[in-house]
Amino acid sequence: MNHYDAIVIGAGPAGGAAAYELARSGARVALIEKQKLPRHKTCGGGMPMMVSQVLQLEEMHDLAPEAFVEADTRFMRHTYLFDDPVLSPMNPEGTDLNLSLWMVRRSVFDNALAQRAASAGAELRDELALKTIESSTSGPLTIRAEGQNGSWEATADTMIGADGANGISAKIVGLRKERALAIAIEAEVPHRWGEGHADLRPDVCHLEYGAIKKGYAWVFPKGDHLNVGAGVFRPNRQSGRGDASVRDKLQTAITDYLTILEVPHRMENLIFHAHPLPIWDGQQTLHALNGRVLLAGDSAGLINPFFGDGILHALKSGQIAANCILSGNQNQYSYKIAEEFKSNFDAALKMARFFYQWPALCYKHGAKRPTATRTAAQLLCGDALFENVAKRAMRRLNRALKSALSGANPPAPELE
Ligand SMILES: Cc1cc2nc3c(=O)[nH]c(=O)nc-3n(C[C@H](O)[C@H](O)[C@H](O)COP(=O)(O)OP(=O)(O)OC[C@H]3O[C@@H](n4cnc5c(N)ncnc54)[C@H](O)[C@@H]3O)c2cc1C
Repeated sequence: MNHYDAIVIGAGPAGGAAAYELARSGARVALIEKQKLPRHKTCGGGMPMMVSQVLQLEEMHDLAPEAFVEADTRFMRHTYLFDDPVLSPMNPEGTDLNLSLWMVRRSVFDNALAQRAASAGAELRDELALKTIESSTSGPLTIRAEGQNGSWEATADTMIGADGANGISAKIVGLRKERALAIAIEAEVPHRWGEGHADLRPDVCHLEYGAIKKGYAWVFPKGDHLNVGAGVFRPNRQSGRGDASVRDKLQTAITDYLTILEVPHRMENLIFHAHPLPIWDGQQTLHALNGRVLLAGDSAGLINPFFGDGILHALKSGQIAANCILSGNQNQYSYKIAEEFKSNFDAALKMARFFYQWPALCYKHGAKRPTATRTAAQLLCGDALFENVAKRAMRRLNRALKSALSGANPPAPELE
């Protein structure tokens, strides 16, 4: 039976980044993926261009952004109930900012990361799904996976569970029994640039806040298509997975968005993909079996509760997991993750609770402000932190709320 220093489960951004980090440092590592690569991943595929630094693309020269970036967006167009539009730059004139959101097709991006890890020495095995993890108090783990071509068994000193929102690693080792799940749906719609609404441009991403209760809808530009989606990011108990009415509402928001932006479409030709998002809901233990199993990315619940983005955090947590293994500090892993994410995500969660409760007010006094797009881009890029921005923003929004509540037509909150 083969023995590895680490087996990484799942070839998304978390697993791809972890396997690469381990392999390039000389560790014996296997990267196991349930699906055949390249595989579709339900996602908007928008990510801050600072992933370039996280992946050290400029230093390593083994992966060019041109291989996966389909559009480089530098403007956001915000609407409320598809009305009252504001189109503003992420880098306003007079600032020395250089922020952008890269738009990728996840099948291409994730496969590029997995192949990069394989080139660095990781043994990449797709079409194999993790089934069991056996462990004694000391000694290696025995990991069994199954695929169409039979079963596979190996031993490893450590395992990284990077198997996403629907993965089983966390469950097997008894972690994250309580988790907050948001839900989002997307569709890819073929598009020819120059057609449709004048603001449909490859450098603009579109965000709509009123059409979805406790969530938002988006249109992200890609090479030859638009990624159009909608999600409920502060779900209440009823709006989880399997709730057909939530699915209907999200699909309606998507088709309404297409209609408003004058994108020709036929409902019967749209392929909707739905997927849960395990959003940050407070610090949790993310390592088990005396540090031999670590969770990264969605499996660890590292989705920003305000924006619902998770790619950057998956990459970072994969790298943190790999580095803990390389330095023999696996028992420090949960602490290291908290150190990286906790204060920022806790503040984002506070903002999310307010924003999704009072979306009309937050649109008027938040998203519509001339500086809002820049701040949103800075927050997404890690150029600004929620923990620094939230206090000031909440003070302003609370003032606006107090004044609105004492007026003749007080706003109604979204229902819990
Ligand atoms: C509709 C939607 C839109 C989104 N849009 C954005 C966005 O625009 N920007 C952003 O940053 N984030 C977005 N997200 C979130 C983002 O997709 C995730 O946070 C990100 O994919 C997490 O990466 P990951 O590597 O942890 O998991 P994943 O990307 O989910 O990868 C996990 C991998 O594990 C594999 N796997 C599962 N089970 C097993 C098993 N038993 N054995 C082996 N392999 C297994 C899966 O096949 C998969 O390939 C969106 C999510 C949704 C649902």
